[in-house]
Amino acid sequence: MSKSWALTLKLPKSTFPPRPQPQRRDEYIQRCADDFYKWQAANRPADGTFVLHDGPPYANGSLHAGHALNKILKDIILRVKVQQGRRVSYIPGWDCHGLPIELKAVGAAAGKRMSAGAIRKAARALASKTIMEQMKSFRTYAVMSDWDRRWTTMDPEYEMRQLRLFQKMIGRGLVYRRYKPVYWSPSSGTALAEAELEYSENHISKAAYVKFPVSLDGHAISGMEHLTGSLYAVIWTTTPWTLPANQAVAVHEDFTYHIVRSGDDALLVAEGCLARVAKVLWGEETAPEIIASVKGTQLTRFTYTSVLEGRKANLRPIFHAPFVTAESGSGLVHIAPGHGFDDYLVSRSLGLPVSAPVDNDGLFTEDAYPDNPEKLRGISVLQGGSDAVLKLLGDHVLDVHNYKHKYPYDWRTKQPIIIRATAQWFADVGIIKQEALAALDQVRFVPEAGKNRLESFIKGRSEWCISRQRAWGVPIPALYTSNGEAVMTEESIDHIISVIKKRGIDAWWTDAPNDPAWIHPSLLGRNDQGTPLEYTRGKDTMDVWFDSGSSWTQMDGQADVYLEGSDQHRGWFQSSLLTRVAAMVNQNATSASTTTALGLSPFKTLITHGFTLDQDGKKMSKSLGNIVSADQVMDGSLLPSLKTKKKAKDGANAPVIKDALGPDALRLWVISSEYTRDIVLGEPVLKAIHQSLIKYRVIIKMLTGSMHKSARTSPLTTLDHIAIFQLRDAMEEVGKHYDNYDFNKAFSSLNRWITNDLSAFYIEALKDRLYCVDGGGVLEPIFMGVLRMLAPITPVLVEEAWDHRPAWMKEDPSVLHPLHQLYNSPVIDPSRLTLDELELRADMPTLMKAHAAIKLAAETARENKAMGSSLQCSVVLAVPKDSKSFELFKKYKDDLADMFVVSSVELIGEGPSVENLGVDVWRYDQTFEVDGLELKASVLPPKQAKCPRCYRYVAPEPEVLCGRCEHLVGEAVE
Ligand SMILES: [Zn+2]
Repeated sequence: MSKSWALTLKLPKSTFPPRPQPQRRDEYIQRCADDFYKWQAANRPADGTFVLHDGPPYANGSLHAGHALNKILKDIILRVKVQQGRRVSYIPGWDCHGLPIELKAVGAAAGKRMSAGAIRKAARALASKTIMEQMKSFRTYAVMSDWDRRWTTMDPEYEMRQLRLFQKMIGRGLVYRRYKPVYWSPSSGTALAEAELEYSENHISKAAYVKFPVSLDGHAISGMEHLTGSLYAVIWTTTPWTLPANQAVAVHEDFTYHIVRSGDDALLVAEGCLARVAKVLWGEETAPEIIASVKGTQLTRFTYTSVLEGRKANLRPIFHAPFVTAESGSGLVHIAPGHGFDDYLVSRSLGLPVSAPVDNDGLFTEDAYPDNPEKLRGISVLQGGSDAVLKLLGDHVLDVHNYKHKYPYDWRTKQPIIIRATAQWFADVGIIKQEALAALDQVRFVPEAGKNRLESFIKGRSEWCISRQRAWGVPIPALYTSNGEAVMTEESIDHIISVIKKRGIDAWWTDAPNDPAWIHPSLLGRNDQGTPLEYTRGKDTMDVWFDSGSSWTQMDGQADVYLEGSDQHRGWFQSSLLTRVAAMVNQNATSASTTTALGLSPFKTLITHGFTLDQDGKKMSKSLGNIVSADQVMDGSLLPSLKTKKKAKDGANAPVIKDALGPDALRLWVISSEYTRDIVLGEPVLKAIHQSLIKYRVIIKMLTGSMHKSARTSPLTTLDHIAIFQLRDAMEEVGKHYDNYDFNKAFSSLNRWITNDLSAFYIEALKDRLYCVDGGGVLEPIFMGVLRMLAPITPVLVEEAWDHRPAWMKEDPSVLHPLHQLYNSPVIDPSRLTLDELELRADMPTLMKAHAAIKLAAETARENKAMGSSLQCSVVLAVPKDSKSFELFKKYKDDLADMFVVSSVELIGEGPSVENLGVDVWRYDQTFEVDGLELKASVLPPKQAKCPRCYRYVAPEPEVLCGRCEHLVGEAVE
């Protein structure tokens, strides 16, 4: 083209850069996150504020991609709500107490030498520092929030609310203290909840068959008259270290037990277990000699002696327990109520003592072996304890072997735990179970499967061990008398809260142990002997799940949404639900049916997301070393570097430029994922994300460069109408998916519209008018529509696009910032749409079919080198003359060439003339079907010469302008 013609064109002019400029990023983030949050809080109505209650991340360590997934999903939801006209409230929180922070702050060994006050000081400092670091990172994701109003579980006000909640539960009789077995971690020196365990499938225990002497207590067994030795009960245990705590042997009343000769003695083994036991004790060759057989019910009349009791040995009971099976062991089960949950429950009904001669560090106490305390005292039950016990048992041990099985570990220290009876505080969640389950019936779950999962956790739990033996936490406000009795009433807690208000919570640990200021006056006095009553303050802290679970106390009512990883079904979701139901449920109601569960749940909608996996589908973990940080996604370092055109100087290596697409890349990864499952983060996924982002940038550059103010008043063509209808459809679909939390479907719908309707159809068809004629069209409504659809997912890109809008748009205050626009407000003044929408919509499928057929035919022609640009052809549509389609194409005949991006379109009724078309030149046909009729699009050589200005083949002769261009250029000159 000669330069003079180029000057008469309206070629796109845009300042929008091909890739984001790092130096502008912070400014854009500030505008689209912090500033935007403030704007909506001031400009959207306060009524019906949408509350997304933050599940607090743990203030320990740096962030990974999973944190980003969580915060960005929340941010998308909030932005969708603001677009719907709602005000949103999102206040970030942090979970600050507990062992990991304590350990990190002081170290395991140092902690033992430090005072509680010093530990708390160090832990608080670490948590405070981590919060600031994490918050800084969250903000780089362009996540909006009320950062300055953040809450943490170590805020004094937070702790007060938590203590008030605890006080309420005490008042309702939902908290009790009991000496009973709990999960105990010797490595962290504290009780643990089920939620703090992980299981190893490959744990190896030292298992043993051990015999206990049985006393028939005067009952005779026929067949045993000639036995000269003793009768022994054979038990099998995988934890020989629990034998000092043995209190009984359980059998099954329906089993038959054989009495088998063993030298002069005899052994008791269940019939169903005999083969297994005999093989271990005597090898496969020897058949055991059965002297006599008895029923399990008969055995329960006998007693036995626990050998380790030594001189003080009492006769112990043998009783029936339903959990005894023949699947393993001997069919006789060693019962240690202090070291097993089943053992405890079955023993309680029989009134058996509960003993656990093991201390906080997992070492035997002197009670483990009363005859000679030094033999076991101080030995670790997990390291050497079983060996030491077996050694003491001497020839009562029949066999010892290694046994691989599933075993619980401390999720923080990764060390095995034990079950150990201690005095702990429990919340009675069994009483409120029905109300908690009923409350869930009114909750919407995304995905729906979350309901079953949460329900199963609630159903499976009757009590919640809420005390921990740590210094860094909220105290359980209990007082103990000199003989160890616990005092905790609403009144005593009320008094303690008032002292904490005055002295600060650390004083609970740092004040003198018997400081009477902490004691409610009604408790002070003298005992029967006339000595003043003294109390000490308890040292237990609350389970951190109780801390975070009470976060709902900050809200006036229910949250609209709770959104966390699916592991929170057994953690925060559960503790939040249980504490709220405990506090709110009508205790006077006699049954669940009379209790309304309405509004009891802290959340109306519960959304869960999966975990992040590496590109091989493996869960990211520190030990695998495959953790990907959000920064790596934002700075492009996971992808190949960009090719640079700059030559390196002096033979040095060319500078490496990373394809850093910033927070929008991270956010697009989130939205493109099916987040309700575990999601993959790796190079292939990121490449696809980058392609999408670059495509959005190309579109935005084109739009910002080609929007003209004059287009606002130029008449709309059929093509423009179609583009508006397609835009509206896409926006409706995308908006519906956003509203339904189906973000990846919104992403697909958006991309489909951009690729098919916008890029391949409308923009292609509009180019001639845009650049060569009046610059009209509906690019401005499309620009607004695109930005509205992108606003929740790529707010930084939207802010950047807005910054690069044409000057005339900047001068027009009536155009709202895209983030401030309501999603459903019209993108165009409806009065400008002059065509009948229903009629055009009915015709659109036929026009699109013709378009597709022409494209296909032209593609074949191009492959055969018959033509180059799509304008370099003419098209003939052959349509039966009396058909509806013929009328349809006739109606739009003036628009067809533009719409199909060809130089001319001729409509002919079918007949012999069709076959004669182009006999002397090339021709490519493509049929398509409408209303059951076969229509044909033929692509032929152009009929006229190429116009040097618009490139359409409509000029009378080469190098001469077409009539239209001649006219337009002439007008411009005048
Ligand atoms: Zn022309």
